[in-house]
Amino acid sequence: MDSLFDTHAHLDDEQFADVRDEVIARAVAAGVRYMIAMGTTATSSQKCWEIAEGSPHVWAAAGIQPNYAHEAKLEDWDLIQDLVGRERVVAIGETGLDRYWDHCPFEIQEQWFERHVRLSQQTHLPFIVHMRECEAEIIKSLTRWSDGQLLNGVMHSFTGSLDTAEAAMDLGLDISFAGMVTFKNAANLRDVAARIPLDRLLIETDSPYLAPHPKRGQRPNEPALMVHTARCLADAHQIDPSELARQTTRNACRRFAIP
Ligand SMILES: [Zn+2]
Repeated sequence: MDSLFDTHAHLDDEQFADVRDEVIARAVAAGVRYMIAMGTTATSSQKCWEIAEGSPHVWAAAGIQPNYAHEAKLEDWDLIQDLVGRERVVAIGETGLDRYWDHCPFEIQEQWFERHVRLSQQTHLPFIVHMRECEAEIIKSLTRWSDGQLLNGVMHSFTGSLDTAEAAMDLGLDISFAGMVTFKNAANLRDVAARIPLDRLLIETDSPYLAPHPKRGQRPNEPALMVHTARCLADAHQIDPSELARQTTRNACRRFAIP
């Protein structure tokens, strides 16, 4: 298989604290030669940048995940903006909205989500959207903030409907699938994935969460396991895994402006 690009991995997670170098080495050995370490808080984003500084295979994203937004202070946003100007920081996130967990009031999530999208519009770096049980609100907010211009972003670990995926693509976003698309009970999600044009499709692990079938249940999930997700998406599109790898890596390099 050609090189793969894991567009969303929480490499700063404490589950990787003692094994991070081995996890990155195993990913590269499995063909996952590009990874984005995804921030969830200011401290986490700083750590992601440090990890990216330490490996030629890792880039970083800086942002405040919606479930942590109520804890974020204004200094935290200063640090995010500072990180976003640094080399190897290629995206803003993760951001988005979450109605499943009741950690953070929804209006506060929306304020922080808008801040991330506005920063993307200023810096031209893509933003990464976390969406859980709020498809209509995500599309409504993005439509409002787009001011009729194309946005630069990614719907991460997508589990929504084809209508939502198409609305997001019309707004300019790519659609990224994680391990859940491989689960036995996820036939509907595979049908959605099969309908995403190959030039708008991305892959990720969202590690350390939710390892793909047949490694489902393995903890922590890690970027090397993304080969299973790639095979599943290749099957859904009825193409060779090498072609799927080549196309999704090309898409990610274009989206994140990595040569
Ligand atoms: Zn994430």
